[in-house]
Amino acid sequence: MSTNQFIKLFLQAQEKNLLEDIELVRQHTKESITKHNARPADDGMWPPKVFSEELQKSYGVNSPVEWIKNNGRKTIAELERQLKKVKGDMKFGRKSKLADKITPEMIEKAKAFPIEQLVEVNKQGFTKCFEHNDKKPSVYCKKNFLHCFVCNKSWDTIAVLVERDGISFKEAVLKLQ
Ligand SMILES: [Zn+2]
Repeated sequence: MSTNQFIKLFLQAQEKNLLEDIELVRQHTKESITKHNARPADDGMWPPKVFSEELQKSYGVNSPVEWIKNNGRKTIAELERQLKKVKGDMKFGRKSKLADKITPEMIEKAKAFPIEQLVEVNKQGFTKCFEHNDKKPSVYCKKNFLHCFVCNKSWDTIAVLVERDGISFKEAVLKLQ
């Protein structure tokens, strides 16, 4: 999977989660307010921006927004802001900050990705070198590293993708998650 495909899928998943969260908060707020026989506020707003006195007593908060926060949820406005950003990222093909952030854990995980899945290793544990014109396999595979006895060079999983496929370090780490 290319990095662009990865980011596209990542953003699509984020968009789906946010839409589901918004629907959940919306339903939950409506249900809770209906259950307590709340009437629209004086200005006719529904759901009310501020709870009635009765509801304020029953919830211990002044408004649906406060109530949502107290329940550890984000408000619809906050979720919609996030969604707008995700949609923007999708539209402009920009990398989301989250997808862009490489953590030490991600690097460790990338290095632990089975190297045999990136190169074809024979029964003797050898593969052909991608750096020189290799007639017979002269690259030895051990402990998730490759070593070429002709070039006298070693590669880990990330280096294989960077040097063989010509992608960036960041792209390689993302690809190996
Ligand atoms: Zn070589």
